[in-house]
Amino acid sequence: MNKVIFIICDGLADRPIPQLRDKTPLEAADTPNLDRLAKGGISGLIYPIDIGIRPGSDTSHLCLFGYDPKIYYSGRGPFEVAGIGMELQDGDVAFRANMGTVDKDLVIVDRRAGRVQSTEKYAQILNGTEIDGIKFLTKAGTGHRLGLIMRGIGLSANISDADPHQNGVKVLEVKPLDNSSQAAFTTGVLNKFLKVAYQKLANLPPANYLLVRGAGKLSKFPSFQDKYGLKACCIAGAGLYKGIARVLGMQVLAVEEATGKPDTNINNKIKKVVQEYNNFDFFYVHIKAADSLAEDGNWQAKLKFIEKIDLALAPLFELKEALIIVTADHTTSSEAKIHTADPVPVTIYGGRERTDNVEKFSERACAKGGLGHIKGLDLMPVIIDLLGKSKLYGA
Ligand code: ZN
Repeated sequence: MNKVIFIICDGLADRPIPQLRDKTPLEAADTPNLDRLAKGGISGLIYPIDIGIRPGSDTSHLCLFGYDPKIYYSGRGPFEVAGIGMELQDGDVAFRANMGTVDKDLVIVDRRAGRVQSTEKYAQILNGTEIDGIKFLTKAGTGHRLGLIMRGIGLSANISDADPHQNGVKVLEVKPLDNSSQAAFTTGVLNKFLKVAYQKLANLPPANYLLVRGAGKLSKFPSFQDKYGLKACCIAGAGLYKGIARVLGMQVLAVEEATGKPDTNINNKIKKVVQEYNNFDFFYVHIKAADSLAEDGNWQAKLKFIEKIDLALAPLFELKEALIIVTADHTTSSEAKIHTADPVPVTIYGGRERTDNVEKFSERACAKGGLGHIKGLDLMPVIIDLLGKSKLYGA
């Protein structure tokens, strides 16, 4: 085995749905290819972060790639801005931002500014603004989103959000979350910038306010290649996942019609793995929509989407020397419409690994698998060992 195909289906796992006779969407879906992987491989459950912890997508991904978020994570911002191609420097604080619409009293009328198609003109106006020696860099993301970086000396990411996450309330002043002078300085400058931005955007409806959240500083990461000796690529539609991959030094491959939405072309993603098979050792494939559909409470569409994923996987069985891993980054409960702490199923297929009696890829079936119940950070060491690349501990 010298190739790894690592498929993360976002929010794939779920809780039992009464209308599905208490099956989960994954259990109720018709998934011959996923079941074939489970039957031929070894399965288990993963607590992506830890037992009883509700994982964010970002922190969970870091764990699944073997990077402890307690060391490497301070906020989502850096991954979001990397996802839209912004380059981060040491000391930068990065944010996710939305263009929103506020009234004259700064009460939010629409958090997404009528879902403006592009934030290009807003990003251009704000990019390069300088306040108190700090430079603000902005770049348009998809739809109403954009990336924001604060660059300069003495910045802290330990600050609150300006985005109250709902309409009809006043925008928030950003506040320091500790007593450091850096956090106080950062919030002071950022609040000034948000006022300046409001003035600059006053005559550009429908968007007139920048809603920022998820402040984060990028820690120094050992690259994925340095850590594991594997040349890795990323095949994903949604920005965050490309950002995580970029930060880890993976090459992000462009895939036509990969949208990160239910209409995404999963066949094209798998085709890309086949086309690039000789060029990389590790293929990180991210498939987003099961998560978004569950967050909308739409378990029917989640079930159908899982069947769409399953159908697309067939060509992988033709690949030689491939270790295929399928898992999720967290459970997204279609009933609760949130990420929950329930562990997620995992299957490893194709190597000379042991097998077990699991014949179906699902939450319940994989619970009985030979891999047992592991944590997210345990997965990469298992993979590296199955590749025959792990070092002996002791003598
Ligand atoms: Zn996720």
